[in-house]
Amino acid sequence: MTTTTPACHGSTVGTKPINDANRLGLDYAAEAGCFAYNGPIIDIHTHISSPRAAELFLDAADAYGVDRCWTMTGLENVGPIRASLPAERKGRIQFICVPNFTRREEEGTFTTRWLRDIEDFYAAGSRIIKYWCGPRGLDFDDSPESPLRLDSPIRLEGMKLAYETGYRVFMTHVADPDTWFKTAYADSSKYGTKVGQFVPLERLLDQYHDVTWIGAHMGGWPEDLDWLHDFLERHPNYVVDCSATKWQVRELGQQPERFRQFVEANPGRVLFGTDIVAWPTNTDPDPENPDAGHGFDLYASRFWALRTLLETGYDGQSPIVDPDLHKVDPSVDPKATAVLRGAALPASVLQDVYHDAAAKVVAGMPLD
Ligand SMILES: [Zn+2]
Repeated sequence: MTTTTPACHGSTVGTKPINDANRLGLDYAAEAGCFAYNGPIIDIHTHISSPRAAELFLDAADAYGVDRCWTMTGLENVGPIRASLPAERKGRIQFICVPNFTRREEEGTFTTRWLRDIEDFYAAGSRIIKYWCGPRGLDFDDSPESPLRLDSPIRLEGMKLAYETGYRVFMTHVADPDTWFKTAYADSSKYGTKVGQFVPLERLLDQYHDVTWIGAHMGGWPEDLDWLHDFLERHPNYVVDCSATKWQVRELGQQPERFRQFVEANPGRVLFGTDIVAWPTNTDPDPENPDAGHGFDLYASRFWALRTLLETGYDGQSPIVDPDLHKVDPSVDPKATAVLRGAALPASVLQDVYHDAAAKVVAGMPLD
């Protein structure tokens, strides 16, 4: 069975003001009704940091069929966000254990405090823990003991504690786009190579073989789906999410047929995620950066682009400015957007990506 894209998809071009999240001038609220898939969607990867951001995020989620999401939010914001949700929205935002990155300069944030947070998040109902180890974490601390390395002593201690506490889903951010390894990470003596980032992960996937590991951002390697397919073959306890909209649109949007084959060859292993950052800093217009986009439209732009990538045969410009295009080639306009070619996944595959794959991973977790 295949889906057909309703004719109204993309038909609102030029009807709304232009900003960096909407170079096409789309009416994102109206466009939400122009997708064929109408089952519930789980977003496994978001960053929602305040009650106001949660409200606007859920407005966009309502429009785009996103029923439930998991967010990485500092522990201190969990209570206020939960308390702010009206009865009909209770339980739609679930929390992933992370250190409080906004307090990264404070002693203990990634060490003693983090160990306490692991237990406190669990007590608050969290059952997924995230280990972020993008190479840029080494700008913060590049020692062998850096708490932002996946296999540093403190990380391994936290991982053991998380396992003993009861977490059976670990999320990781390993590596970053190829474009970054060509630019900001060009110094491989400091940041390592891209493939080298996965060495400690492979060891830990084997060690914690009864944990489901979610590799954020197509496992960090959407550019090379052959490599990623082999990695999934080697590690049956590994699944990936398709989050980081600009990155995925730029890379998967260049190879829609290969992407479709990849998803079809890996049922239950690709989870829908957006990486929407819904922060107090972007709920309202930013006078310092009036072009940035904000609130409902900013968040909806991610849903629109990812759903277009997954379920339509769209072949055109992404509406979202992708600064990496200019970074790798300074002759490209800084406001350029990537070409987005949709993979037009069949309806049964979409249901797996949008819902069933994640539902299996979170089965049995308490949902407040
Ligand atoms: Zn993220």
